Amino acid sequence: MSSEILGIDLGTTNTVAAVFREGEAVYISNALGHKLTPSVVALDPEKKQLFVGRGAKEILSMKPDNAAAAFKRDMGEDRSYKLGSRKLGPIELSAHILDSVREDAERELGVTIDRCVVTVPAYFGEAQRQATHKAATLAGMTVERILNEPTAAAIAYGLQKRDEESQFLIFDLGGGTFDVCVMELFEGLLEVKGVAGESRLGGEDFTQALVELGLRIAEIEVSTARTFASDYAILSRRAELLKRQLTSWKEGQLRVPAFGSDKREQTLTIERAQADQAFAPLLDRMKQACRVALRGAGVKIDSLDEIVLVGGASRMPCVRDFVQSYFGKPPMVELDPDLIVAKGAAIQAALCKDQGGGDLDIVVTDIISHSLGLEASKEIAGRHVNGFFSPVIHRNTTVPVTRTSTFSTIERNQTEMNLNVYEGEHRRVSENHLVGALTVKGIPKGPAGQNILVRFTFDLDGLLEVEATIAETGKTFATVLHRSGKSVDNKAVATFQKRLAKLKQDRAEEPRNKDLLFRAQALWSEVDEGERSYLDECIEAFEIALAQGESATITSRFEELARLCESLDGGERW
Ligand code: AMP
Repeated sequence: MSSEILGIDLGTTNTVAAVFREGEAVYISNALGHKLTPSVVALDPEKKQLFVGRGAKEILSMKPDNAAAAFKRDMGEDRSYKLGSRKLGPIELSAHILDSVREDAERELGVTIDRCVVTVPAYFGEAQRQATHKAATLAGMTVERILNEPTAAAIAYGLQKRDEESQFLIFDLGGGTFDVCVMELFEGLLEVKGVAGESRLGGEDFTQALVELGLRIAEIEVSTARTFASDYAILSRRAELLKRQLTSWKEGQLRVPAFGSDKREQTLTIERAQADQAFAPLLDRMKQACRVALRGAGVKIDSLDEIVLVGGASRMPCVRDFVQSYFGKPPMVELDPDLIVAKGAAIQAALCKDQGGGDLDIVVTDIISHSLGLEASKEIAGRHVNGFFSPVIHRNTTVPVTRTSTFSTIERNQTEMNLNVYEGEHRRVSENHLVGALTVKGIPKGPAGQNILVRFTFDLDGLLEVEATIAETGKTFATVLHRSGKSVDNKAVATFQKRLAKLKQDRAEEPRNKDLLFRAQALWSEVDEGERSYLDECIEAFEIALAQGESATITSRFEELARLCESLDGGERW
């Protein structure tokens, strides 16, 4: 087993990995030299190989049917994505991303990586955490800790080192998820007091608001626009660029494709104030989540000592203005909001391997974001009705925690009892999520009402141990839900790894070159005739250099084409 533990922020939009060495975070660069790897998986239809990252993102815009993105939103759900003729679920897709950052880390650090700390939104329930855990296992890593993203952010800012009691709010607006988390530092203990958020609200919604604003001004119906998939993808890309421009500038341009009409492409000038109006409903949703988190934590706005901004989309001026005015104080923005969580994960990873302790000696606790309990029956008008949820550990309880409840048999001579474990907040189990089950056998025959003592132990990694003891005989049954060998066995990992090796891109093919060609091709479909011919020339020159295999020429042609792509893409760094 390697001594290095990788800290991974598996994001909806991007994934970042880091290790903690000599007191600082060392971020892992991918083959393109970027710290952020887009969480996108795509299939190269010609070679039937899978791609991850920037190249996959390019395929997504050109051939959306061959790519999958934002699958973090579906973690824990029984959904599958079609990539060409293949079907992949969110766990497998995430495993591909994790496998790719693991390989990048091995290349960069020159060691084998087989352990990791992975972060998840605080709002993630048990099923989503289990799914994340499984993805990392499939990618060949043992998960040392599933860490809440806001906890990671607080650790990255070193908030746990403060001397006095403090209260913080972590405001995390990523690409596709929004998390607010109220934390308290008390006697050296960093504790999560309240969480709220939306698993479907993030930077992408702001981009979408700009797409819709552009279409409204250009007088094109959204439903009509959606039928032109390629034009729609181009507009979304441009809206994303505009959104980023509006972070630095007061206005920017948006070119709206023709969408099949006889009108030509329209170039719109969008002012920041205009965009902010379109964003207003999204900010309202954020305000609502902040209220819920504060209420859940029982903390007043005035008692917050710090507000920490996390997530790429928290750079937007409208978001910063909102935070400043709602909380009445400037937020902490010193660390790069895209990298904070990975930094925290790397610090936690260092703690796991007990390296660099001293200064980092912190205790972190979390709270459970969804209640966990058992299905129970109720006596209604003399009849037993099944399907009711009986929580054992309630939402917002600090973990690690152990709670015990007593359940009883309902029939005479009942010798078996099925304990179905659910997670959720609904009184009917049908509306909650089934986490797993445990069967208790050998209950002594006798009248109804035999007691079974059920103990739930929930640890910091989101691991739930369920233990049931027959009161009369003391016989105990137990199961661990989440990371039990049963959910991810070695055979499953081996099969996945074999499939992965067959599917994934031949690394010798230099993804960097291939990605640039994908990128150039995507731009080619967007730019005007005049720009196309020069782009054509550069692509051709690069392809010839690649075919000839002379490394100095490849490098200079690469740089030429990369520079051109950068300038055509409005200065977006390649
Ligand atoms: P994350 O999931 O934390 O990687 O967040 C990515 C989100 O941040 C995407 O929706 C990006 O569009 C957004 N983002 C990144 N940089 C900027 C920027 N300069 N201005 C506005 N949004 C940004």
